[in-house]
Amino acid sequence: MLALVTGASRGIGRAVAIELAKNNFDVAINFNRSEEQALKLCDEVKNFGVEAEIFKADVSDYEQAAELFKNIKNVMHSNVSVLVNNAGITRDNLLMRMKIDDWQAVINTNLNAAFYCCKEAIRDMAKAHYGRIINIASVVGLTGNAGQANYSASKAGIIGLTKSIAREYAERGITANAVAPGFINTDMTEILKPEVKEAILNSIPLKKIGNPEDVAKAVMFFASEESSYITGQVLAVDGGMTMC
Ligand code: NAP
Repeated sequence: MLALVTGASRGIGRAVAIELAKNNFDVAINFNRSEEQALKLCDEVKNFGVEAEIFKADVSDYEQAAELFKNIKNVMHSNVSVLVNNAGITRDNLLMRMKIDDWQAVINTNLNAAFYCCKEAIRDMAKAHYGRIINIASVVGLTGNAGQANYSASKAGIIGLTKSIAREYAERGITANAVAPGFINTDMTEILKPEVKEAILNSIPLKKIGNPEDVAKAVMFFASEESSYITGQVLAVDGGMTMC
């Protein structure tokens, strides 16, 4: 069975690709800028005895997202049965100072890209009467966050998108769920100031920062048969940060 992970070259997407491969999924690895890292990951994934290929595409651009699905079919001769919408960026600032470009870039990458990929994946899934859509949200999509109006809105949007797809396509054998990470150790959080990290750490009941693998295991659950009676849910992987 073939899984596509968007933004798989680094961080959480990378860990998801590895976890899926460990569980016998063939993996289409999407990247945008980090080709070298994507190639390295591809070799690592193949070591698990599954098929893997890398595909360059800026998924925030509809034409490129549509082309991505065509390329996957041509190269891997298979339809995408598991779609993990993971590609994401931040452009943090207070609302008053937030540039229009920063709002749009975040909405395009985190929300519109997920819609484009779902739109491209769903026809084949519906025909096959089988599909697993897993969208990477964030706890701030549930709670909001000062300085992240764009990011929080994109992640709240992805939760609405997930639930709507879950309702629309349940009878076609497609489940759609979201994983909402809290604070995870990746390049995205590396840039935060030490005092900000410390404050976040103090708000986590389990008193530790999560690893990409913690999120990957939750994604794997939604990709597996173990979750076949679960759809439209949001699973927070956050050390107890939100509990809502
Ligand atoms: P990261 O380390 O910064 O990696 C981001 C990934 O997204 C990279 O592989 C990057 O690929 C890819 N990407 C960005 N823009 C893209 C585009 N237009 N098209 C294709 N790929 C694109 O981030 P991360 O922490 O792993 O985050 C992964 C997801 O988890 C995101 O959706 C993020 O919002 C979410 N999340 C993260 C945290 C956290 O604490 N880290 C918390 C909550 C939610 P290239 O380098 O190849 O461009």
